[in-house]
Amino acid sequence: MPEFVIPAPPQASVAVQGSEARFPVRRIFCIGRNYGAHAREMGHSDREPPFFFLKPADALVDDGGTVPFPPLTSELHFEVEMVVALGAGGADVAPEAALGLVWGAGVGIDLTRRDLQQVAKDARRPWDEGKGFDHGAPCGPLRPIANVSSLEEGRVWLDVNGETRQDGNLTELIWPVADLIAHVSRSMRLEAGDLIYTGTPAGVGPCAAGDVLKGYVEGVGSVEVTIG
Ligand code: MN
Repeated sequence: MPEFVIPAPPQASVAVQGSEARFPVRRIFCIGRNYGAHAREMGHSDREPPFFFLKPADALVDDGGTVPFPPLTSELHFEVEMVVALGAGGADVAPEAALGLVWGAGVGIDLTRRDLQQVAKDARRPWDEGKGFDHGAPCGPLRPIANVSSLEEGRVWLDVNGETRQDGNLTELIWPVADLIAHVSRSMRLEAGDLIYTGTPAGVGPCAAGDVLKGYVEGVGSVEVTIG
């Protein structure tokens, strides 16, 4: 270990179901427009190559946590997503080998300052202010892959204050998990500790202070946060 001139930042991590030990997080990759109905609700066709953006690892919020309502927005949107956690890395990974990198899966919410994202889209600027803000990546406890029933089918839904607002199924993924891993790994080397948020089904919408968001993926898990 080198000596540091300021205290080293803490290691970001996510809880693991049934374990005291936590999963250390390196980077958070988020896939855009990976469900046809959501792509269409955002004004796009449903057949485009996958693309991704990054959130900082310290944007994670644990299950049961509170997300302080973020600054500079009046349009904070929820996006429930299955999250895949990599236990091994690789560059230029073949789709047939990609699932071998997966350590486990969980449920996350890709919180979005939609108004700032729209400003960025209109000005052809990066999405960081719309997507990469503090507390913008809640993630529930990860389930080791041996205990995950499927990465390819299972209901994906999100309730706001007990009312279902998003409702889809992993069968609707335009690009399945193996293709997503292969795609990202062609652009940059994936590493153990990376998370991939795999995209959101239709029904995204705004939330307000006091709202309780609960996201689920059947056979994978859940996540609950309160907007502060
Ligand atoms: Mn998303």
